[in-house]
Amino acid sequence: MKKIFLPLVLLMSLLSCKNDNIHRLSDEEVLNLIFNSAQNSTIAYENLEYLTENFPKRLACYPQGIEAAKWTKQIMESINLDKVYLQEAQVMNWKRGNEEVGSILLNGEKIPVNVCALGRGISTPKNGLEAQVIEVNGLEELEKLTKDQVKGKIVFFNQAMNPTYKNPFRAYSETAGQRFIGPIKAAEYGAVGAVIRSLTTRIDEFPHTGTTRKASENETVPAVCIATKHANLLSQTLAVNPNLKFYFKTSCKNLPDTISYNAVGEITGAEFPNEFITVGGHLDSWDNSPGAHDDGGGCMQAIEVLRIFKEIGYQPKHSIRAVMFMDEEISQGGGRAYAEEAKQNGEKHILAIESDRGVTAPRGFTMDASDEVIRKLASYRALFQPYDITVFEKGYGGVDIAPLKDIGTPLLGLDVDATHYFDWHHSANDTFNQVKREEMQKGAATMAALIYLVDKYGI
Ligand SMILES: [Zn+2]
Repeated sequence: MKKIFLPLVLLMSLLSCKNDNIHRLSDEEVLNLIFNSAQNSTIAYENLEYLTENFPKRLACYPQGIEAAKWTKQIMESINLDKVYLQEAQVMNWKRGNEEVGSILLNGEKIPVNVCALGRGISTPKNGLEAQVIEVNGLEELEKLTKDQVKGKIVFFNQAMNPTYKNPFRAYSETAGQRFIGPIKAAEYGAVGAVIRSLTTRIDEFPHTGTTRKASENETVPAVCIATKHANLLSQTLAVNPNLKFYFKTSCKNLPDTISYNAVGEITGAEFPNEFITVGGHLDSWDNSPGAHDDGGGCMQAIEVLRIFKEIGYQPKHSIRAVMFMDEEISQGGGRAYAEEAKQNGEKHILAIESDRGVTAPRGFTMDASDEVIRKLASYRALFQPYDITVFEKGYGGVDIAPLKDIGTPLLGLDVDATHYFDWHHSANDTFNQVKREEMQKGAATMAALIYLVDKYGI
């Protein structure tokens, strides 16, 4: 009993002492408190484990997505914030249906391969789809073919992500077009289906899903992504047997839009309650995935920022909001709803930060902001040096915070070591055990530290 009681008293006195004195501490000392608070806590990490175990496959339009939002509201209520609420958002409603099947048909043999449907895509006929295959190395190569070469076939987009780039997001954006508009382009050329190489540099058996552009049934074709190992197998088998056939079956559906929810928690500002700093991630995940790195971890980091301020006793001048955006993966309804309400309420958003590149070791921030703001934020670099946070450069903010740009908000993305991000991205491989607590916590502390500085000195 004693053992529990004494440290608790000590902690309480430390907390109240910090509370009184924090405004007298130097910035170096406050940052030290922030980074220490993050590293000494296991709460966000345990919450991420609970989220991924109890609410995997939480697309915005699925019951799991809505249950996850309600649970997230509860955990924010447990840290005594000033406001916690759910915010309605209109979202696209796509359902995967039964698990997909795919196979290479060769000499009367059926070689099974791992495939999955693409979000917003259409389904195959009830009994599936079977046709010869024409392989292309991306969209440009398809455009060099004639309609006669493609007609009646399945187009196999097999452009691989370039594994040599330092920034894997560059490799992703170079190849994502084949997933996004590949099925529509294939339809244009008279194809009956499309198979798309999963967007990862890893060679494994996980199909990686993602959205494809929505189109009417006759403007697109049924499509699946295929695991990289099986994409290689298909390509090699095709090289020897160009007349082989491919079979796949999907049963996904596009339904009328539905309602889902962002979860929002706030510490109200003491001096400028109607001026906001937003920190967030997206709570929805793909329905083939626990969504640990993408982006349950980013959400738990955002809540952790508020928990850190509570623990160290920092009362911000501006209102700080943690926002769990809903529906990043399919139609970004959560981000739009949040910005709309901010506009309607005349809220001034002085800064928004998003963590959605995996919760690996943080490196700093990429900033979608004016040169003046970038210069000002980069002037804090020396304070972050002890933590090896060095990136303060112009760049991308985040998908969910992007609509806030309309009201002039500077947008920041937490920059991380994304070397392995696409190993997990949009697949069943995005599991809790791939998350390192220290790295995730350091990311939360990095955001909390910058928010502290912006809150104190303005922007
Ligand atoms: Zn994401």
